[in-house]
Amino acid sequence: MKIVVLGAGLAGVTAAHALLRDGHSVQVLERAAGAAAETSFANAGLVSPGHAFSWASPAAPMAMLRSLFNPDQALRVRLSLDPAFWRWSLAFLANCRGARWAENSRRLVRLACYSQAQLARVVEHTGVEYAATRRGLLYLYADVKSLATARQQSDLLMAEGVEVRALDVAEVLAVEPRLAAWAGRIAGGLYCPGDESGDAWRFTTALAEWCAYRGVDFRYGVTVEALDADETRVRAVKTDQGSIEADAVVVALGSHAPRLVRALGYRLPIYPVRGNSVSFPIREGDAPPTLAGVDDGTLTAWSRLGDRLRLTSTAEFSGYANVLPRRDVETLVLRARTMFPGGADFDHPSPWSCLRPMTPAGTPIIGRTRHSNLYFNVGHGAMGWTTATGTAQMLADCVAGRTPAHSMDGLGVAETFG
Ligand SMILES: Cc1cc2nc3c(=O)[nH]c(=O)nc-3n(C[C@H](O)[C@H](O)[C@H](O)COP(=O)(O)OP(=O)(O)OC[C@H]3O[C@@H](n4cnc5c(N)ncnc54)[C@H](O)[C@@H]3O)c2cc1C
Repeated sequence: MKIVVLGAGLAGVTAAHALLRDGHSVQVLERAAGAAAETSFANAGLVSPGHAFSWASPAAPMAMLRSLFNPDQALRVRLSLDPAFWRWSLAFLANCRGARWAENSRRLVRLACYSQAQLARVVEHTGVEYAATRRGLLYLYADVKSLATARQQSDLLMAEGVEVRALDVAEVLAVEPRLAAWAGRIAGGLYCPGDESGDAWRFTTALAEWCAYRGVDFRYGVTVEALDADETRVRAVKTDQGSIEADAVVVALGSHAPRLVRALGYRLPIYPVRGNSVSFPIREGDAPPTLAGVDDGTLTAWSRLGDRLRLTSTAEFSGYANVLPRRDVETLVLRARTMFPGGADFDHPSPWSCLRPMTPAGTPIIGRTRHSNLYFNVGHGAMGWTTATGTAQMLADCVAGRTPAHSMDGLGVAETFG
């Protein structure tokens, strides 16, 4: 079957790989000059079943409300007249009830565990190299209360088989001595030895190259404009360089998927949530952290990715503008210096900003649509590096008519938004 995949981010490239393995003829259309040029470019790099919680939690509404009066906090909401923002926000609030949060988080952690196993399989199959560190991840908490809440919430992870160890400050430092300068700012942490980290851009570009060498046709610099479809099937993909016919089409356009499929009657519940990162070169003699993690108090993730140290932060609801304020960069540079003094060359930061394609529940939307040959692999939100390889396999299973090895419960197109 000739399958056209739209988008060459984590979701599109992993889908192309899974479809190639099934023997399909695969073409990937991407408007950028290469793979992983947007949200998959400089994320935090965490493959983190140990942090696979839905953002729609009972605490989220108050945090969002506070952000209206404190524009400097890491979580920020900018009120907008965009009806899509209000529709999304209402759906998000409906998911914040305790029971829904637990159900969504359970789905997310199960998917994350399945995906981590698929990531290992993809790496074994292809041999792609991406500066992986497989020594676990640390999650740090600023005070006793937030640490206690995190310990309580980790029951949900452990029930799904994730190993979680509670650590006091001395034990955190035993796992990562290079957090010594930050020790005064934390009350303790959780350590998930099975979690890992790696450079999502290196992984995606290496996997794209591997696939291209084996016949996947990557067309870069091609912008998808519309889908040519009747009531039941997509006939072709209309691009700025002409029409491309396909037996099946996979939409993996990240935050930009809703605009494309709206014309066919699909109102995808995806809204962009901006985040940013700053990467620093690591020089000979620097003392960077040896494993990655998240500092919950400042909502900052850090990771060492080969010869670079990266810090990420910010969840800003400000539409599609993707503007990176200078202040955000300065805040991250200062935090990097404070957390890991001597850890990298902090005078040469590489800032980046991008849009997380968030669904209200925090879980992605995968599989077949009302059009019999149109598939979605979208809505990967804050966890797309963790979940991409699993959703790609599930997508390929759907295309092949197989029952996916991992449950589609709450992830399929029809049940997540009709
Ligand atoms: C600051 C930050 C930190 C993060 N940290 C982590 C983390 O530690 N762990 C984790 O699991 N996840 C993390 N994520 C989330 C993860 O990066 C995303 O979920 C993932 O990159 C989404 O991949 P995607 O393929 O869906 O989207 P994208 O990577 O955005 O891919 C979509 C592609 O479609 C292309 N495209 C769009 N429109 C068109 C068009 N009309 N025609 C042609 N091409 C088009 C784009 O150019 C793009 O390449 C983070 C995200 C951010 C922003």
